[in-house]
Amino acid sequence: MALVVQKYGGSSVGGAERILRVARRVAETRAAGHDVVVVASAIGDTTDELLDLANRVSRAPGPPRELDMLLSSGERVANALLAIALTDLGLPACSLSGPQAGVFTTGDHGRARIVDVLPTRVRQELDRGQVVLVAGFQGLSKDTDDVTTLGRGGSDTTAVALACALRADVCEIYTDVDGVCSADPRIVPTARLLERVSYAEMLELAANGAKVLMPRSVEYARRHGVALHVRSSFTTDPGTLVAGDPEESTVEKPAVTAIAHDRGAALVTVAGLPGHVAGVLRVLADTEVEVDMPVRGGADLSFTVPRAMAEAAVSALRAHRADLGFTSVTADAGIGKISVVGAGVKAGVAATFCAVLADHGVAIDLLTTSELRISALCREVDLDRAVRALHEAFELGSSDPAVVYAGSGRGW
Ligand code: ASP
Ligand code: MG
Repeated sequence: MALVVQKYGGSSVGGAERILRVARRVAETRAAGHDVVVVASAIGDTTDELLDLANRVSRAPGPPRELDMLLSSGERVANALLAIALTDLGLPACSLSGPQAGVFTTGDHGRARIVDVLPTRVRQELDRGQVVLVAGFQGLSKDTDDVTTLGRGGSDTTAVALACALRADVCEIYTDVDGVCSADPRIVPTARLLERVSYAEMLELAANGAKVLMPRSVEYARRHGVALHVRSSFTTDPGTLVAGDPEESTVEKPAVTAIAHDRGAALVTVAGLPGHVAGVLRVLADTEVEVDMPVRGGADLSFTVPRAMAEAAVSALRAHRADLGFTSVTADAGIGKISVVGAGVKAGVAATFCAVLADHGVAIDLLTTSELRISALCREVDLDRAVRALHEAFELGSSDPAVVYAGSGRGW
């Protein structure tokens, strides 16, 4: 008998029929003799809808504590409904909120980090023979005793943290595509399912726009050696195993593993900056804006920030214009980021990357490379074309492509 943690994403529990399908899958796992802990996300687009409502009752929704009370409710609804469905199938089940399940976090509302998992209650309920359903994406602040949320996509991290704390035998992440693919199958119809991806490559993909896993969940899994099985909740196929080092998984494999794209960034340009960049970066750090791809060209400094933070970044910098001494600061939200990821990425790959994009009329800016990745910015309108062109040029396609089963199209 094994202990299996199964995480189901929002589209896998999108509506009564899908909740019943998930309940039947959980029942099958139980019938095979395993203990099951389920972590479900909020149904469909609930989190976006709740945010939308908040924006309709306030121009600047807050306090942050209340936003987290609001958003954490979505996961409780989904998990309670699953418990109800399982009970109806004759399986004893018990749903728990994140705090009840012993998920403790920092006090940073909206982006709390898990600091401890004490799953005593989860164990007790398992020992009583129950299927335990834990509301993902939330925890309890050790500092303030308030409910917190972990940031968008946070249920993945809940599942990994629980799997680790419970020493689960398997951690399955169920989604609405076949697994981790060579590109977003919603954009590239020939995208190939990857059977195995190293933590390091998965982290690069997730951090650069592949929404199939939250980057922090991959970090957590790598740090604690939790192997992740990313699978479709619509089939019984094994999906993708995320584990191990790049070397292991790239023997005899091509240079590029997959293409990621990101529509979530804005390009900020600080023009006429006389002094060091440190002052600018300090202001942004104090405003808690994450900066990526910084490039200094002459008297200008350009970098990307999360699009949702672009306004905050620009106003914080404007407030310090006198002491920093720059001429102007602007934000461009019409950009996209395209990345190729793979253990074999090197100079020759960068040359091909640039040539392919040029051949397809995609103008690029801010090219950066790391050991496993080459990224560039382009216009957002060119992004899909860029993904398809690179996918074809690096011959990543399959004649038996991955399938998209559901989802809002918010991202792969
Ligand atoms: N419901 C949350 C979100 O939409 C958390 C999750 O789905 O993992 O971001
Ligand atoms: Mg997700």
